[in-house]
Amino acid sequence: MLQQTQVATVIPYFELFMARFPDIDALATAELDAVLSHWSGLGYYARARNLHRAAQIVHLDHDGRFPERIEHVQALPGIGRSTAGAILSLALGQHHAILDGNCKRVLARYFTLEGWPGKSSVLSTLWDHAERLTPRQRSADFNQAMMDLGATVCTRSRPGCDHCPLAADCRARSEDRQADFPGRKPKKTLPVRETVMLLLQDSEGRILLQRRPPTGIWGGLLSLPELPAGSDVTEAGHQQWGLQVKEAAHWPPLRHTFSHFHLDITPVHARLIATQAVRDDNWLWHHPEETAPGGLPAPVARLIDRLSKSAL
Ligand code: SF4
Repeated sequence: MLQQTQVATVIPYFELFMARFPDIDALATAELDAVLSHWSGLGYYARARNLHRAAQIVHLDHDGRFPERIEHVQALPGIGRSTAGAILSLALGQHHAILDGNCKRVLARYFTLEGWPGKSSVLSTLWDHAERLTPRQRSADFNQAMMDLGATVCTRSRPGCDHCPLAADCRARSEDRQADFPGRKPKKTLPVRETVMLLLQDSEGRILLQRRPPTGIWGGLLSLPELPAGSDVTEAGHQQWGLQVKEAAHWPPLRHTFSHFHLDITPVHARLIATQAVRDDNWLWHHPEETAPGGLPAPVARLIDRLSKSAL
C-alpha cells in the first residue's frame, strides 16, 4: 500500500485490510473481488492483484511461509530488488542494499550523480553505491536511516542540509546544486484516447457495471460500459448490447491520466426504457448508494458518487 501512497492515507485501509485478511492463507484463499473492494479508493490496483497473487504463490509453493531467500522473494509478483532487500533486511536482519525513491535522491545528491535514475546506466551506478555503502552489520538500521533521511531531511524540495548528518561531505550541498539531483525524467507528450462511459440506470435506480478482463488497464475491476467517442448511445446500446436505452444527459468530460496516455472520458447518463436481462456474465446491476462488490477505477467511483449525490 505504501509503494505509491502516503502513510496517513494508507492507515485506515491497512487496518480494514488486515482485519479482513489477517494472514497469508486468508489472503490467498480470498476471492480477487474481495481484495479489490478493500483496495477501492487507494488506486494503483495492480498492487492489490500482485499482493493477492503473491499470497497464492506463498500459500502453494512455500507452504504458507514467506520465503527467506532473496531470489524467491524477488520472484513474487510486484516485488522488485529494492522491496525484496527491504523486506529481508528489516524483517530478518539479512544483509541487502535497498534503493527506493528516497535513497536514490540522497545518493544522487551526495555524489552529484547526473542523469535520470530511470535510465539503466544511472540506476546501475546508484545500485553500485548502495551495495558498497550498506554495512554487513545492522543493514536494517542503515536502510531504515537512509529511507528516513530521504523522507524527512533530504526532501524533494527544500532539503534540510543544515541539520543533515551527511552535510560535511555532500557534493550537491557544497556546490549548492541540490535542486539538480536526481535528474528529471525526459518529458514526453502523452497521447490522448477518448471514450464514452455510460451511466445506465434501470427503473430501480441501479446502474450497469461491467467487469473488465483480468489483465490490462483496470484489470479485474468493475467499470462502466464504454462506447467509442462520439457514439449515439441509443443506437449503439441497441446494436451492441440489444438494450433499449434513452439518453438523459451528457455530463462534462473528465480526464484520467495513466503513465502512458491520457483518457478523456465523456460520461453519458442514460436510462433503460424497459426491464431487460443483461446477457453477459460480466455485467451486473449495482445500486449506487451501496458498496460496490469489487474494486472500481478512480474516475468510475467519482462518477457513481456524483450520480448518487445528484439523485438526493
Ligand atoms: S546535505 Fe543536503 S543535499 Fe546533501 S544529503 Fe544532506 S540534505 Fe541531502
